[in-house]
Amino acid sequence: MALLQIAEPGQSSAPHQHRIAIGIDLGTTHSLVATVLSGQAKVLQDDRGRVLLPSIVHYDQNPHATRYGYDAQEFLVQDAENTIVSVKRFMGRSKADIKFQHPYALIGGEHEMPTFQTAAGAKTPVEISADLLKQLRVRAEDSLKHPIQGAVITVPAYFDEAQRQATRDAAQLAGLNVLRLLNEPTAAAVAYGLDQTTDLSVDANYVVYDLGGGTFDVSILRFSQGVFEVLATGGHTALGGDDLDRLIVKWLKQTFAIETLNNEQYAEFLIAAKKAKEALSEHTETAITLLSQTVTLDRATFEQIIQVALDRTISVCKRVLRDAKLELTDIQNVILVGGSTRSYAVQQTVEQVFAQQPLCTINPDEVVAIGASITANQLIGNSSQDALLLDVTPLSLGLETMGGLVERVISRNTAIPVARRQEFTTYQDGQTAMLIHVVQGERDLVEHCRSLGQFTLRGIPPMTAGQARIEVTFQVDADGLLAVSARETTSNVQAHIDIKPSYGLSDSDMERLLIEGFQYAEEDKNLRHLAETKVEAQRELEALQQAFKVDADLLSPEQQSAMQQAESQLSQQLQHDDVEAIERAVEALKKYSDAFAALRMNRHIDHALKGTKLDDWSNQGSK
Ligand code: ADP
Ligand code: MG
Repeated sequence: MALLQIAEPGQSSAPHQHRIAIGIDLGTTHSLVATVLSGQAKVLQDDRGRVLLPSIVHYDQNPHATRYGYDAQEFLVQDAENTIVSVKRFMGRSKADIKFQHPYALIGGEHEMPTFQTAAGAKTPVEISADLLKQLRVRAEDSLKHPIQGAVITVPAYFDEAQRQATRDAAQLAGLNVLRLLNEPTAAAVAYGLDQTTDLSVDANYVVYDLGGGTFDVSILRFSQGVFEVLATGGHTALGGDDLDRLIVKWLKQTFAIETLNNEQYAEFLIAAKKAKEALSEHTETAITLLSQTVTLDRATFEQIIQVALDRTISVCKRVLRDAKLELTDIQNVILVGGSTRSYAVQQTVEQVFAQQPLCTINPDEVVAIGASITANQLIGNSSQDALLLDVTPLSLGLETMGGLVERVISRNTAIPVARRQEFTTYQDGQTAMLIHVVQGERDLVEHCRSLGQFTLRGIPPMTAGQARIEVTFQVDADGLLAVSARETTSNVQAHIDIKPSYGLSDSDMERLLIEGFQYAEEDKNLRHLAETKVEAQRELEALQQAFKVDADLLSPEQQSAMQQAESQLSQQLQHDDVEAIERAVEALKKYSDAFAALRMNRHIDHALKGTKLDDWSNQGSK
């Protein structure tokens, strides 16, 4: 008798028992979707057998005539302003953040989400990305003949809160249930199974070298106790395969002795250059024919032509290694990501720089989507492998305290999801409200960090300064999205904010914030000391003035004027930033204020001891 077969968990062939989740690489130049079928990750093709969807949308006056991908590409030359490319560069940014060149008519306020004015009406970056994601969702549903239960979408490691939120919004708008946003380098590491094979007792470091169409990103990942941590990131927002194409065009012009090309010719040269470049990944040489001239391009010449671009990627790699405080020998593996790493010259360069053969057995423009699909499959419960894939916060999160100082609540590179709680208190007597200002960055002063949002906690019962206990909780979910809540513990009044800023950081801003954090550490320490000294002195002054109103009669007129003089000395010093002078003025004032405090203490103890006896009245105002 034949035995009945039982499928492995999550691998049942009966469709009603199989849950389908997909992984999407939403790229600057190309996007694609993958899924795990029968335990095997695979990329999904469109109805014409193509895997990559160029991240391009063309909007027509007729809303039903919107074109996507290769179909939209055709409109790039004739209708550039309605053909949106590289929309990823606009995600989570404000209009003011957009400093690169583009052919689009953007509308909206400087600090609002930029909106593209297209033939089909106003379109936000989120809507355009959603249109691309919808294409991939439909592709997955058509080819799997099954509804999609959830999706993992990848984002660059340096993406900040706003950029992640925008990506998540786009996915939701596209009708996807977002299981998680995953860092692209982490996804690549997962595709190679580096989270499964590594011995958990030792840490491993990986370099992810991602050379795409228009961007270069390098990340150093540490895999430690089941968690991927991004140790450092770097890159160029304008360095990629497109630049290699332009370098080839330059060489072609020289070789063919051509001075100038008109627009049409230039476009033709670019297409030929790209074709030649891609051909050289398969063959050792290729022929290029243009304007009835033919030339042969071989791998060695190609390598010389693109050397400038390669050199730039190498110097970034070296800097990122330095940032992570790692030596070459600390790197276990180098992973190649991005279509441009298919070039032999790129692979050779990476191998030389890192003195080891990089991992490139998985198609480099598919590896991120593959990793995302594996994570999606784990998250939906189809896999017996544990989803160990935690990520980390890219920048520290904190809030503003008195004196414009930042109190860090969650430091950068903390594994997420994470929740941290910290207690704060009031600054003034009778204070009934508190402004919770949430910031992101590595510096000590609020003005040097990025403001993420703020809210007010009201209804704090009036108490003496420093008595109220306000619990502030920072919670970062698995996608890196932040929620902050505040609660006054005696009255239980609460307030809450989901951080969803209207614009985000550019990658260069992000890099700057990180670098400044290291650079200005000493200066920040001094600034923090100054700010803290000022807050303390100000509090001292205010308390003294308050006391003076009540108990001035305890002092002789001479004592009064000496104290007032010391007070005004200190007030004056507080206008300046000389921390030592402020400290001296505080000391000088303390001589009088301490004596005054002792006198007041005696009076109040007397009062307390006397209780509520009638003769209290006659004692008022005298000692
Ligand atoms: P992104 O992640 O920015 O969307 P991709 O990873 O899809 O970009 O990379 C696109 C780039 O890869 C293009 O410049 C393209 O010319 C280049 N590319 C694609 N295939 C090859 C190949 N076989 N050899 C060299 N370069 C390639
Ligand atoms: Mg990419």
